[in-house]
Amino acid sequence: MACISTALIVGGSIAGMNAAIALAKAGVKVDVVELAHVPLGASLAFSGRAAMALVELGIFDEVYATGRPALGSTAASFRNSTTGEITNPGPQRPTWPGAVDGVGVYRPAFLDVVQREAERLGVRVRKGVSYESFEDGADGVDVTFTDGETGRYDLFVAADGINSKTRDLIFPDAPKPQYSGQLSIRWMAPGPQVQDEGWYMSEVGKLGFYYLPQGLVYIPAVFNVPEAGRVSDAKVRSLFTALLDSMSAPAMKELRSRLDETSELIGRPFDWLLLQNPWHKGRTLVIGDAAHATSAHMGMGGGMAVEDAVVLGQCIAAAETLPEALDMFMTRRFERVKLVVETSVRLGQLEQENAPPSENVALLTKAFATIGEPY
Ligand SMILES: Cc1cc2nc3c(=O)[nH]c(=O)nc-3n(C[C@H](O)[C@H](O)[C@H](O)COP(=O)(O)OP(=O)(O)OC[C@H]3O[C@@H](n4cnc5c(N)ncnc54)[C@H](O)[C@@H]3O)c2cc1C
Repeated sequence: MACISTALIVGGSIAGMNAAIALAKAGVKVDVVELAHVPLGASLAFSGRAAMALVELGIFDEVYATGRPALGSTAASFRNSTTGEITNPGPQRPTWPGAVDGVGVYRPAFLDVVQREAERLGVRVRKGVSYESFEDGADGVDVTFTDGETGRYDLFVAADGINSKTRDLIFPDAPKPQYSGQLSIRWMAPGPQVQDEGWYMSEVGKLGFYYLPQGLVYIPAVFNVPEAGRVSDAKVRSLFTALLDSMSAPAMKELRSRLDETSELIGRPFDWLLLQNPWHKGRTLVIGDAAHATSAHMGMGGGMAVEDAVVLGQCIAAAETLPEALDMFMTRRFERVKLVVETSVRLGQLEQENAPPSENVALLTKAFATIGEPY
């Protein structure tokens, strides 16, 4: 039996909505509030233990059906930017007997699966709503919501992303997100599959792509941009166009031919943050990017958020008391997540130092071996 009866989750994205499923499965009555009415975003890939976490939540099959398998894929390989030939097969993702395949999935489609499963388990989800204020007391957390409702909960989970307001409220001395020196630009290009998936590099930046069954090609690109701060839409477009123009491999030419002034490019700096242990105070716990955000160099940020969710559910089900559950959670999460944050930051630095891809692959392969151990 769970050591708590009720929980509020603030932020209904990857960490929050999956935590709602995990807690509901442990017998907890869960409310979720999420500011956004419609989930946005590009694509995400879950592999290794993060994919097993989806199995444990009971949603892997449906996620897999809406996404694309990673098995046998060359999407992680490095290719020659002129010929398209593979120059390095990329890092080996962890696997073991009984492991499920990794999956790439369109983020809104993933969140749709997760929310439906949460609601099927009785979770109450309110969109366009946040908290106005909360008071963490001995008997529960009293919350006033922006829609005028009030409620008392045994546990308050902040899954409100890298710019978490809750983290700043309960840990005012916590580090602020730091700029990594790199800008990410993503494009979900409509149209048929393009051959020669993988990563391409030039002096302008690096770009990869893979196809999703929704009829979209997911194209993430990374640029070294030393100055921190907002990058204008015009600069995002000119950087992305210059990158495609700098490479003549057949796939790059095909993608360039699909790019026009209506193409929606999502530019976002790679910021990172690691909240020091512990991520809880009283009855409030911070999870997901709110506690540990990083760049996409390992493609594991969302995976770590899903693992947080599963481990939280397990700890709440196994412990006698909430403080015991939260301590168990930190013991199982902190070092693992720290490795992902620090490795991702280092991978970005290697790129900025123009290190050869083999150094990148060696570091990734080493980190994946550890992350392949059970969470
Ligand atoms: C370019 C790029 C590519 C990536 N690729 C991958 C990948 O392939 N695989 C992978 O595993 N990870 C990937 N990641 C990382 C992944 O996107 C994040 O780690 C993940 O989104 C974190 O989930 P989260 O739920 O913690 O935070 P978020 O997804 O940021 O969600 C936070 C939610 O909280 C809501 N919110 C905020 N404030 C409030 C409030 N006050 N009240 C109510 N709601 C609120 C927001 O609307 C949002 O929905 C990538 C990241 C980037 C930038």
